[in-house]
Amino acid sequence: MPKMYDVCVAGAGAAGATLAREAARKGLKVLLVDKSPKEKVGDKVCGDALGSHHLERLGLTLPRETYFSIYPGIEIHSPDMQSRLSVIAEGVSAYALNRLEFGQFLLKLALDSGCEFKPETHVRELIIEQGSVVGVRLAGRNGVKEDVYAKVTVDATGSSRTLSRMLQPAGFDQELNDDETLVCYREILETRMTPPMPAIYLDMNDAPGGYFWVFPEGEGRVNAGLGVTKGSANPKLLFRKWVDRLPCLKNNIAGVFHKGGGIVPARRPIDSAVWNGFIAVGDAAFMVNPLHGGGIGSSMTGGFLAAKVIAEALEKGRVDEEALWGFNTEYMRSYGVKQAALDVFRVFLQGLNNELINYGLAQGLIKSEDLLEASMGGKLRLNITEKAARVFAGIGKPGFLLKLNRTVKLMEDFRQFYMDYPPPRGFYEWRVRVKAFHERVHEEVGRPS
Ligand SMILES: Cc1cc2nc3c(=O)[nH]c(=O)nc-3n(C[C@H](O)[C@H](O)[C@H](O)COP(=O)(O)OP(=O)(O)OC[C@H]3O[C@@H](n4cnc5c(N)ncnc54)[C@H](O)[C@@H]3O)c2cc1C
Repeated sequence: MPKMYDVCVAGAGAAGATLAREAARKGLKVLLVDKSPKEKVGDKVCGDALGSHHLERLGLTLPRETYFSIYPGIEIHSPDMQSRLSVIAEGVSAYALNRLEFGQFLLKLALDSGCEFKPETHVRELIIEQGSVVGVRLAGRNGVKEDVYAKVTVDATGSSRTLSRMLQPAGFDQELNDDETLVCYREILETRMTPPMPAIYLDMNDAPGGYFWVFPEGEGRVNAGLGVTKGSANPKLLFRKWVDRLPCLKNNIAGVFHKGGGIVPARRPIDSAVWNGFIAVGDAAFMVNPLHGGGIGSSMTGGFLAAKVIAEALEKGRVDEEALWGFNTEYMRSYGVKQAALDVFRVFLQGLNNELINYGLAQGLIKSEDLLEASMGGKLRLNITEKAARVFAGIGKPGFLLKLNRTVKLMEDFRQFYMDYPPPRGFYEWRVRVKAFHERVHEEVGRPS
């Protein structure tokens, strides 16, 4: 007899472990499955940075072993290194996580709540019966196959989106365009001197469509890497260029702890993350901040909200798409609106060249506090002075400021679109409008200035 669960969660990362914990805490019978051995869960190539506000939202306190250090904020450098924004907010700090220990902590919370865990087990396929997902096919150690049945199956497999892809013929999945895909390369380095603050370096030639980061992880250790839009450049080759270019890295590296790559889906959230008997969370549902590519906190939020909606749906005895729809609505209102607005800003930024970024930052068009507010809430305020207008006219780019203003307006419009996320019956019409709107964004502000 195959086993029957209330919820089967594929993937024990930030999203899946949080969902499993919350669902088990609500008394549901939960199976959590991960392809990694138990002691490796959480060991992911990542920048390892997490804003404290995400933890506060979820009421989580991190034990000391789960992070290396805490920083008051982050610095952003212009391509010519002449301008620097210090993004520091009162009451918000940046954790430099020990990613493995953090993942182990989330897993332990899930297991302590009573969920069952299958490590070293690959989720291979969805079992679909009469238009509804009813379980998954697993392959455990030595390829041992097993079918598991669940009232709700969750895809929390990260950017591989193993299960969501299988629902594509049913119209569920969406393509991740190349400009929305950040291909990353990262190393954890032993350093002789550690920079005092985490830093982001912008450069459209040496980090096209993304950025290079150097995040200190306590004394003598930094997490450094870069993300570039898919097809634009080889991040591993560019990494070496950055190491030679930055004084905080050049001749300062004593050893390498880890090297690796990964993918970040940097865009607005998936239009709908639910189907009959099915939910996608975390990277699998594109729950990442498109401005900086951070997705740990929002994935945990997604997991938390999904558990709540699943419990409510089971209580009512229905797990069809309509019964799970509340997850879409709740996620869009809590984080999706911000992602949508920032996705417009991402499109605008990706159309800039180094000269424009240098001038923009030198002219103070966006102040640190405004950038922080945009990153936290998706609302962007500008500081366009007459002097700045003269400067941009002087370099033959008088239209640049108009485009920036237009971007802010489109961000607000897109935000409203997601605030007005529809019920199931209005979804297809909304989806068509979103697609058309996004094409307009590319047309109006995404083209090179
Ligand atoms: C290079 C890089 C740097 C990043 N830097 C940051 C950062 O500094 N801050 C930040 O907030 N975010 C960052 N992110 C994004 C962040 O890592 C993700 O958004 C977040 O981890 C998503 O969580 P998740 O649970 O959805 O997926 P994941 O954390 O990827 O977890 C997915 C889990 O599913 C398991 N799995 C996958 N396929 C299967 C399968 N078929 N069967 C069974 N198990 C499976 C995996 O083993 C894994 O445990 C970065 C990402 C990358 C690639």
